[in-house]
Amino acid sequence: MSASRGVPIVLTADRTLTADYPTLFGGMVASSQTTTTPAPIMNGLLARRSSIAVAPMGLRRIEAALRADGFSGDEIEVIAPERLSEMVGPRTRVIGVSAGEACGLGMNSTTMTAIAGGEIYPRRKVRDLMDRIAALRVRAPEARVILGGPGAWQLRARDDLRREMGIDHVVSGEAEGNVAQIFSVMIDGDDLPTHLEGETAAVEGIPPIRGPATMGIVELSRGCGLGCRYCVMGRAPMRHLPQKTILADTQTNVEAGLPGIGVISEDTLRYAAEGIRPKPQRLLGLLRRMREIPGMGLIQADHANVISVAGWSDDELSELRELMAGDSGCRYPWINLGVEAADGNLVASVGSGKLGEVDPERWGDFAAEQIRRLIRAGFMPMASLMLRLPGETADHVVENLRWVDALADEPLTIFPMLYAPIDGGSVPSRADLTPRHWRLIQRCYDVNFRQVPRMFWDAQAAVGVPLSRRIALHALGYGQVALWSALFTWRRWRAAS
Ligand code: SF4
Repeated sequence: MSASRGVPIVLTADRTLTADYPTLFGGMVASSQTTTTPAPIMNGLLARRSSIAVAPMGLRRIEAALRADGFSGDEIEVIAPERLSEMVGPRTRVIGVSAGEACGLGMNSTTMTAIAGGEIYPRRKVRDLMDRIAALRVRAPEARVILGGPGAWQLRARDDLRREMGIDHVVSGEAEGNVAQIFSVMIDGDDLPTHLEGETAAVEGIPPIRGPATMGIVELSRGCGLGCRYCVMGRAPMRHLPQKTILADTQTNVEAGLPGIGVISEDTLRYAAEGIRPKPQRLLGLLRRMREIPGMGLIQADHANVISVAGWSDDELSELRELMAGDSGCRYPWINLGVEAADGNLVASVGSGKLGEVDPERWGDFAAEQIRRLIRAGFMPMASLMLRLPGETADHVVENLRWVDALADEPLTIFPMLYAPIDGGSVPSRADLTPRHWRLIQRCYDVNFRQVPRMFWDAQAAVGVPLSRRIALHALGYGQVALWSALFTWRRWRAAS
């Protein structure tokens, strides 16, 4: 098929989801930037164009589901936004977009814009992408645009934005179960509702990806089910992907030349668990199999629950660290723990089952103890705290401050996040932050300013990022430290005046 006539199904995502991120943390740093970071730094250093044709894991899964349901490889093109014009033409019927931040309402976005100002780049880049698509639709008059992905929920309450962005349909949730059906209807030109519900497939029916995923991501599980009311995963029960699929996805990423793999789960340490009780040997067994894949480098993980850490012995945590680092030379593998607040009653009050059977009165100490166990096992834990949780008082902020102070000399990072409701409720903004909040944010970043450069450099070295790029990133990091330090002082002063 001639590309100039277009491809029937074109799948794409914005630059922040298709860039060259050698490490998971590098992707997180880039996606946390606001437009106060100059565009040349963002485009040329933090989120460079990838020389490997990566796409976000969700889009890769959609591609695989379409192929498994009978679409041919010639009918589908998964493409970076910069190359869209090569594939959109008169034969194009569906332009599928995956977005992480359709409206900038995610917790990370609201936090970073409150702290740094500007517009969060993932949102800006989605808007750029939609502008690009709007211009291309002239040559593809029968094409319809459908948006899905982790940020699709944000458009449910913003129909004005959906129309403004030129999106015909929004699909919520996982969609492997019915994406082929939806796309067939679109190709036939038949009517479809504006808002569509995706259908999940049984985990055994989730098809392995057919091309590399951004950041070398490999899904271990989906959902969580611990009930936090501010989280879209709160009511989605955790389901674990079969080893066979995970290993196939890993192989696809490694063979494409991705230097590090990011294993993704809302709770990595709960992989293949029964209920909420971890089964450490199941994850360790999986990682051993992953290590057998020729060319396997650093394995990174994102989230784990505090109570799941407690379900692992010290020896098991040490073995986990060894399996993740392999012989990459990585000294500080990280893993993110959602502590949310030192006061367990406050955490429990937002419906969170993340305390398990831990006495809420002991939550702060319990979480600190699990963090110290991870440190002893050789990790550099990344804790997150949530500011402006419903019911938060000045005393809670002071308690959080004390909690941070007690851990401040340990090798860890602590990221304060601004509570963001998912039910359309009002989103706290910078104006809601008191001088105490700014003191807490500044204290967290005092810790981060010391540890993040080490962690960043270490992971980049472990996946073979050239020295010149590491030095440039390092210099940028120190520039941001200086800028942010001044910014925090200014914000505290403004909040107090
Ligand atoms: S424990 Fe984490 S992933 Fe699970 S519902 Fe709560 S915030 Fe969401």
